[in-house]
Amino acid sequence: MSTLNMNLCWICKKNEIDSREHIFKKSLLGKTKNFYHVPLSEKPIVTIQGPGSNKMKYKANICAVCNNQLTQGFDMAYDKLYVWFKSKIVKPRIKNILTMNLSQVFGENYKSTLEDFYCYCAKSLGCRIIDAGILLPEDFPNPLTKENLRTLSISLCLTRPFGYKGGQVESFVNILGKGDLLGYLQEEGDEVRVLKAIWWENIGFLQISYWLGYKPNALFGNELNDNEVVYKIVNTKMDLKKVMKKMRNIL
Ligand SMILES: [Zn+2]
Repeated sequence: MSTLNMNLCWICKKNEIDSREHIFKKSLLGKTKNFYHVPLSEKPIVTIQGPGSNKMKYKANICAVCNNQLTQGFDMAYDKLYVWFKSKIVKPRIKNILTMNLSQVFGENYKSTLEDFYCYCAKSLGCRIIDAGILLPEDFPNPLTKENLRTLSISLCLTRPFGYKGGQVESFVNILGKGDLLGYLQEEGDEVRVLKAIWWENIGFLQISYWLGYKPNALFGNELNDNEVVYKIVNTKMDLKKVMKKMRNIL
């Protein structure tokens, strides 16, 4: 028997599933004129017609309450990071290390906003794993109860996933991508559960790396936490192929 009731929202574990999480945040899709998506396997990059596109959503695995009402603060935290980042990365020449002051990005209450950002990431990763037909680990972070948030680490870095030529930089900033989901799996009868996982997403030059059950590999930046107010974003200069190879080696 599965410990996960497939008809119940994995977040609140109370309401029936009736809602689909966006693969990319809807606000990001709305802002971009042309957006591209690295599909969930290594297929060619595709153009997406609009934020409502079916290709932009996971299969339903959460409830509308969790998707729309309870997690709005999380979405806002993610938007704050994106807005700050976009204000910094507008020119072709990117500094080797970008310094990010958490209180400038997330505001005075940056500690709680950073927690909201982590909750957004937990929601996004949880929906991705379940979409693959895989069970979450027992200690997976819950964005509503905030339980086990520490099992997930996030790191930020700069990459050049698609390479770029000088004139294309402006449009490049609008390219969105998701990396492959990499994980250690354990069979449980007919089902499979993930024990540890690595995942990442690209918003133009920014890479947000997800480390479930791992501490971040410093190549992709240190753990984003509130121990210090200044976070250094390293520039890896890696393209997508290199990122994939490194991530697979880390796993
Ligand atoms: Zn729910």
